[in-house]
Amino acid sequence: MANAPLVANNIHKQFGDHEVLKGISLEANKGDVISVIGSSGSGKSTFLRCLNLLEIPTQGDVIVQGESIEFSHDKKGERIPANTRQVERIRAQLSMVFQGFNLWSHMTVLENIIEAPIHVLGLSKAEAIERANEHLNRVGLYDRKDYYPAHMSGGQQQRAAIARALAMDPEVMLFDEPTSALDPELVGEVLKVMRELAEEGRTMVVVTHEMAFARDVANQLMFLHEGKVEESGDPSVLFDNPNSERFKQFISSVY
Ligand code: ADP
Ligand code: MG
Repeated sequence: MANAPLVANNIHKQFGDHEVLKGISLEANKGDVISVIGSSGSGKSTFLRCLNLLEIPTQGDVIVQGESIEFSHDKKGERIPANTRQVERIRAQLSMVFQGFNLWSHMTVLENIIEAPIHVLGLSKAEAIERANEHLNRVGLYDRKDYYPAHMSGGQQQRAAIARALAMDPEVMLFDEPTSALDPELVGEVLKVMRELAEEGRTMVVVTHEMAFARDVANQLMFLHEGKVEESGDPSVLFDNPNSERFKQFISSVY
């Protein structure tokens, strides 16, 4: 069998003496859409950041397409990546879409999208532009490609950020509350693009407060509470038959 795009085993993360993640595991097979939900402060963002090594897990393994991230320790005994090249390569395969869009404000949409394919993947500018145009069409922004982010709505900026992530041709796309910073009337256009990506078979891990997305689009649900997986499984089963009291409370608080 082909290697799973992304496996995380027993991820722990400690900041000082605060243990934020207490052993979280995940397996994303090709085409899986995994939604990660939970109250604010439960560790969702930290977990996502550990997956693409924006944070270094204090313990546990991240395995991308069968390749394990190698760690060593610095002089203070803190865990660090053993191989920064490997981290760059792996990070390119797990592109992330953030709550705050994080587009480069001094670049047009097109420039935002072609930057990493040219500098990280080594594409020629012409090739990067050709691919960018496809992704811009994909998210419905071809006619905005020469705009600067400040001249676009939040929904357009987030769709541009999705096109930028797609341009890396990632194995897995990671989304950290991609619609939380948007005005309510702009949420739908972003969710629509994400739904289409899921239908096309993209492997995705999505931290979200959009329960309809978690319920209808995702095929795996993880509910985090205080840095642990409190409940996980098939969302269509769990939403109707939650096991844990905390998950029940969470569902009733967000609906
Ligand atoms: P969520 O995304 O579920 O709201 P986070 O992962 O952002 O939760 O945060 C979980 C906990 O980790 C919070 O208590 C937060 O204060 C703490 N935390 C997150 N990042 C850091 C950091 N860089 N340094 C110290 N504490 C952090
Ligand atoms: Mg968060």
